[in-house]
Amino acid sequence: MINLNDLTLGQLEDALQSIGEPKYRAGQLFKWFARGVTDPDDMSDLSKPLREKLFSSFGIAPVTVEQCFASKADDTKKYLLRLSDGNLIESVAMHYKHGLSVCISTQVGCLMGCEFCASTLSGRVRNLTAGEILGQVAALQRALSARVSNIVLMGIGEPLDNFGNVVTFLKNVNHPQGMNIGYRHISLSTCGIADRIYDLAKQNMPITLSVSLHAPNDGIRSRIMPVNKKYPVAVLMAACREYVKATNRRISFEYILIDGLNDSLDTADELAGLLRNLQCHVNLIPANFVPESGLKKSCSAAVAAFKKRLELRRINVTVRRELGADIDASCGQLRQRHSG
Ligand code: SAH
Repeated sequence: MINLNDLTLGQLEDALQSIGEPKYRAGQLFKWFARGVTDPDDMSDLSKPLREKLFSSFGIAPVTVEQCFASKADDTKKYLLRLSDGNLIESVAMHYKHGLSVCISTQVGCLMGCEFCASTLSGRVRNLTAGEILGQVAALQRALSARVSNIVLMGIGEPLDNFGNVVTFLKNVNHPQGMNIGYRHISLSTCGIADRIYDLAKQNMPITLSVSLHAPNDGIRSRIMPVNKKYPVAVLMAACREYVKATNRRISFEYILIDGLNDSLDTADELAGLLRNLQCHVNLIPANFVPESGLKKSCSAAVAAFKKRLELRRINVTVRRELGADIDASCGQLRQRHSG
């Protein structure tokens, strides 16, 4: 059965016309979904007979809050959300000076197998639909009674391994009749599926691309990220350079500092060389590792030295603030614990 909240506005209009209803009804439904309303009984501008007719022909896939964990250290809240088939996913809400940011999931689990990441421990269960991705933003907006200003696709899953649904979601969340969130307020983070980076560059959506680089060479990167065997560093970087050329947006490179593996000054030099003449920014992450990984975070002196070395080489670099460390806010840690 087709779920109405997975459709674009145009597809929704076609669906309504197929059951003999006028197009403008599509706009009404589209607005309800953007507000996180998926219970037909709450759609007050649709008559009961119409709702019955609609929902005997079509489905709707809700996302509901199962549990909320609030950090005591900062204003971060982590949500465990339930999908209609009982699967659980995670989203995080972070309050910054410039507004409310949400970090959302794109898949149940993940296939990518990165050594340091909890989301991938039990593999990929399924892709989220476009409606379920939007449903997370809408559910958090409702739970917090606040307007979401920024979205990061950095929760559970690899967004570019669910390309079609993610692109539909991006179009819907950006739509003026939907949540109307600007592309420049949206970031998508990928482990580096180079082919899909080229596809994304063609979409003409000026979102920010984040690339989880974590190493400047194949030797280190292949040890911690299996995706590197298919798309080695040189192939990934060619795709990144094309993305910058096509969109004129700078890329953000994520770099988790791991003790003794990728945190030496030589490695910093190599990273600076790799990124030379590329419009980009490096985000250093003092990591929260799952015990299963056997990896250790770099000490704060190593983090500071690595940062300084990149600065010396004229690379834009920041160290990510650690928010929500006390609530398992790194992706996949919460879901793993609840299903474990
Ligand atoms: N699959 C996408 C998005 C989800 S992961 C990607 O790989 O980018 C989001 C970010 O969190 C990535 O940069 C990822 O490498 C990082 N991450 C994963 N596990 C982490 C951990 N234990 N500590 C810190 N960051 C982690």
